[in-house]
Amino acid sequence: MKKVFFGVFIVALVGVALVLTGVTVKRSQKETPTLLMRLNNRVDGSCDITSYTTYGRFFNLAGTIDGDHEDIVLILKDEDDEIEYELVLEKGEDVTNFKTNKLINQGINLEKVPLGKYVFFIKIGDGEEAKYYTLNDQSKMDDITYYTITKDSNNKEIKIGFEDYDKKSFMVLNNEDVKLPSDIYDIVIDPGHGGNDVGANKNGHYESKINLEYGLKLKESLEGLGLKVKLTRETDESIPNYGEGSRVSVPYETKAKLLLSIHQNSAVYNVGDGGVEIYVPNHADNEFASMLATNIVENTSTIYSGNVANKIARGVYLRKFTKSDLASMTKEAKDKGYTPYEGATTDTTYYYIIRETGGIVSGAYVDDRNPDKPWNTYYNSNHGCESYLLELGFINSTTNLNILLTEQDKYVKAITDSVKYYLEI
Ligand SMILES: [Zn+2]
Repeated sequence: MKKVFFGVFIVALVGVALVLTGVTVKRSQKETPTLLMRLNNRVDGSCDITSYTTYGRFFNLAGTIDGDHEDIVLILKDEDDEIEYELVLEKGEDVTNFKTNKLINQGINLEKVPLGKYVFFIKIGDGEEAKYYTLNDQSKMDDITYYTITKDSNNKEIKIGFEDYDKKSFMVLNNEDVKLPSDIYDIVIDPGHGGNDVGANKNGHYESKINLEYGLKLKESLEGLGLKVKLTRETDESIPNYGEGSRVSVPYETKAKLLLSIHQNSAVYNVGDGGVEIYVPNHADNEFASMLATNIVENTSTIYSGNVANKIARGVYLRKFTKSDLASMTKEAKDKGYTPYEGATTDTTYYYIIRETGGIVSGAYVDDRNPDKPWNTYYNSNHGCESYLLELGFINSTTNLNILLTEQDKYVKAITDSVKYYLEI
């Protein structure tokens, strides 16, 4: 009995001590003071974070530190170990600007962060001489909650945010095993069009229906890998682009890491034997898109599309707004009496399903400036989904249409194999 009383006494004392030192405990009441308390001794200064975001599996941050520095890295530190990440540096006036990566689908792969609790530091120099700088939040962005891709029925929850200790702000990452919440998914498949919006059509074959057939088969196939897959529509119905349950909202609400929007192409001109076109986000690495196109071409009878407009690699396309697209958007805004959005440039991705689902990282901009269209309430989100639009083939090519109707299982296997490789399942 004495021991029990003594234990309670110690806990009470520690509690009083924490209150006296002004510790702010936001999350884990037991661990937080210990890790921050211990790492606090290593702090040499602080610097500012101007953004922190996720896009698919990739976490990136950007910030600025006083002075001219070259030997500078980002680290995730716990009491025993440091995980080091390279930074892209840019000299400013008496400051060094840093970011984890220039491409939106590279950077810190959250799937590879080991379990545990860590503090982010900017580390300058090495060995005994190394200096550690804490990260102050100047971004006004929200804390991030990320769920890892389902592997062998297991998931981890990674929380990234800020905690105060000893009048300093620490950027903290906490990675724990969890049971995946029922409304969280790994992948969203979006069968394009639906209901009254039939999309392209040829000889009684409607794009909306072909897209749905592919979507349903792909869902089943990806679930065979153990992935949790959400369809934006499961029947031949018309669904909204924005708002609750919409094509754009579902990837955010489910915190999906990957979105594949399924379409069939069509053109007014003769497309020969047609072919596959994968549309990608701007400022991204196109390894996955190239793999999708190649796997489809190698495993089905279809070919790479001969279309050269917006082509950046075999079967891979990047369509951005042109000057005339922007001019007509500006004119439309003026005609309808609202302020034209100036954030869209010739560097902005054209297709809304790619642009609007990645949040701030992919240049989403459909906000409340346009009263005639529903809003993308997530346009400013710092967590987004890595999104691709797959034009599987041309239905106005008789050869290609026949392949699209008869080789669906081969297409689905090619896409599934690509996802398996890319997500490292
Ligand atoms: Zn379409």
